[in-house]
Amino acid sequence: APHRDGTAPHPVPVTVLAGPTAVGKGTVSAAIRARYPQIHVSVSATTRAPRPGEIDGVHYHFVSDEEFTRLVESGQMLEWAVVHGRNKYGTPRAAVEEAVTAGRPVLLEIDLAGARQVRESLPAARFVFLAPPDWDTLVDRLVGRGTEDEQERARRLETARVELAAEPEFDVTIVNDTVDRATDELARLMGVEPERS
Ligand code: 5GP
Repeated sequence: APHRDGTAPHPVPVTVLAGPTAVGKGTVSAAIRARYPQIHVSVSATTRAPRPGEIDGVHYHFVSDEEFTRLVESGQMLEWAVVHGRNKYGTPRAAVEEAVTAGRPVLLEIDLAGARQVRESLPAARFVFLAPPDWDTLVDRLVGRGTEDEQERARRLETARVELAAEPEFDVTIVNDTVDRATDELARLMGVEPERS
């Protein structure tokens, strides 16, 4: 919304949250969505199948490979990537632009390849690296989640190793020691103060 004196509000930077596999990016972005309705959390499009409990249009826009290609080729994706060598994920451009125009802080929770594309297209964005407290914690979370088979876990572990090395490319690191604390730190970074009862 415009300020009372009629001037435009200062531009709200887009915040990109990335980090290694299983560090808890999805959990933190879900907590932002639940507790900070002021923040627009981008809903990605993906070609992977919904997991139990996932709702189309809420957690992801679940689309066919053909539809995904159409969105990319018509310029409707801000960024996109093949994640874990398997499915495609991308950020629909229009919803991000609408939220920025409305003056809302925007959060993108995406993989590293996607973050690098956003750095090219939206250099004013702020890049936040979500880090595990330590490597063992990351491995425990990766194996403990139990939603992937052995081969998939090995693939994700290797991806995590490579992704951890990307931390210096980011503006800020948030350690995901507890979800609540990391979520509040991220919200504060986005200019939204935690409301505590
Ligand atoms: P999952 O399949 O477990 O929901 O997500 C797998 C990975 O896809 C996560 O690391 C997540 O950050 C990434 N991801 C989710 N949405 C997007 C997106 O729109 N763009 C990119 N580049 N990665 C995404």
